[in-house]
Amino acid sequence: MKTVEEWQGWAAQRGIEIITQPAQVAKLSQDYYHFSPILTPLLADKRGDVVLKPATEEEVIAIAQACVASETFLTVRGSGTGNYGQCIPLQGGVILDTSKLQRVIHLEPGLTTVEPGVKLANLEQQAQSLGWEWRMVPSTVRTATIGGFIAGGSGGIGSILYGQLRDRGNLVGARVVTMTNPVEVIELAGEATQVINHAYGVNGIITALTLPLAPAYPWQAFGVSFPAFVPAAEFGLALGNCDGIIKRLISVFDRPIPSFFTPLREQIPTHQCLVLTLINRPDRLAFTELAQKYGGQVIPLDKPITVIECTWNHTTLHARAADPTWTYLQCLYPDLTTVYKLQEQLGEEIAMHLEFIRLGGKVIPAAIPLVRFTTADRMAELIQLHEAQGVLVANPHTYILEDGGMKTIDREQLAFKQRVDPKGLMNPGKMRAWWEFIK
Ligand SMILES: Cc1cc2nc3c(=O)[nH]c(=O)nc-3n(C[C@H](O)[C@H](O)[C@H](O)COP(=O)(O)OP(=O)(O)OC[C@H]3O[C@@H](n4cnc5c(N)ncnc54)[C@H](O)[C@@H]3O)c2cc1C
Repeated sequence: MKTVEEWQGWAAQRGIEIITQPAQVAKLSQDYYHFSPILTPLLADKRGDVVLKPATEEEVIAIAQACVASETFLTVRGSGTGNYGQCIPLQGGVILDTSKLQRVIHLEPGLTTVEPGVKLANLEQQAQSLGWEWRMVPSTVRTATIGGFIAGGSGGIGSILYGQLRDRGNLVGARVVTMTNPVEVIELAGEATQVINHAYGVNGIITALTLPLAPAYPWQAFGVSFPAFVPAAEFGLALGNCDGIIKRLISVFDRPIPSFFTPLREQIPTHQCLVLTLINRPDRLAFTELAQKYGGQVIPLDKPITVIECTWNHTTLHARAADPTWTYLQCLYPDLTTVYKLQEQLGEEIAMHLEFIRLGGKVIPAAIPLVRFTTADRMAELIQLHEAQGVLVANPHTYILEDGGMKTIDREQLAFKQRVDPKGLMNPGKMRAWWEFIK
């Protein structure tokens, strides 16, 4: 391991930006793990030693070489908006910050190749001028990077049309810098890219990604308010299944969630149940008629981004701003009947928040229900209660890759890690397979 002073000298010689000021390093060592009261005490004091900010792939290679030679741990950071401490270094070392890797390498109708530090909103703006946009973005679209979304995210606005990031076709190619001696640059294409998809940066530094784009539509944001949750949820499902109405987002909120949406407070009834949607503007008549059929009151809303930033995990952000005892779960419910059953069983301990997505060709209620936190044991019980009803829970209260949504050891991901990071230097402590089978 090099000392901080040695890293300073090393970076100065090569003209690579380095941050060593402790308060800044501490800030760049953290993400949004504090949504979880279980992760908070485990991660609050974790820090890297230095932050290096490469501006080119050559500089990434130089950093990888130096880390391998000095056996220094390395953790990659995009914008640090992950929710489970994915980019938090558990054992110190170098934080490789991708914010200067901002190049759009290639952009053509339907396809783009970008460096990993490209902000999702920036590329979307450029692509939209050609009539294209990302297939899906997280609600952190304004801040998150594409590298962080691929390595740490799962889906979001657009998942009702295109499924999730892990679905075949949603990632075309990747360039990966290894932590081997000598360092290599590997090109992955098609199915082979799955090893770095949602891998928390444990198996290589992504320096370029090729992704398919989607045709851009003139999205209009709407709220639809309902006096009760069941018609709101049934409307959400009907809208999801209505092939003639093109939509990018269907989020359904039970009370009291709409009262947490301060940016929408002037525009929506806050004490009703609410559906937030993005609809292809020419489809608004069919959309309004469908909403009315379910007894909903349609409210056109000004700005898609304001609506986006109330959905997905921004809902949890708003809830916690109003009352920090709220936390959350991430669920795939098999159907709405199961949603209603769990609501009845758990009462005010949860507040239901659905995000309809397309999964294997079917519209299903994914969800990020708010949970009133009491103890870690009760959270484990709640997860068991859900699983007993056939709900798939991606536990957001763990920083271990396999214990979140994956549940099983991914042998291919592990084999790729052995190939590209044989010393286990990348984001140590995050991959169960590594310490169970290799170390
Ligand atoms: C309010 C809020 C709302 C959110 N909404 C959503 C949502 O709708 N959908 C969703 O999927 N997620 C969501 N998230 C989680 C998070 O915003 C996304 O996953 C986001 O895409 C992460 O991007 P980032 O640049 O911040 O990555 P970071 O948090 O910096 O990193 C995420 C992971 O990627 C790894 N990584 C980053 N760059 C590279 C690279 N170049 N090579 C290798 N590994 C790399 C890091 O090591 C880390 O493990 C939300 C989070 C918050 C706080």
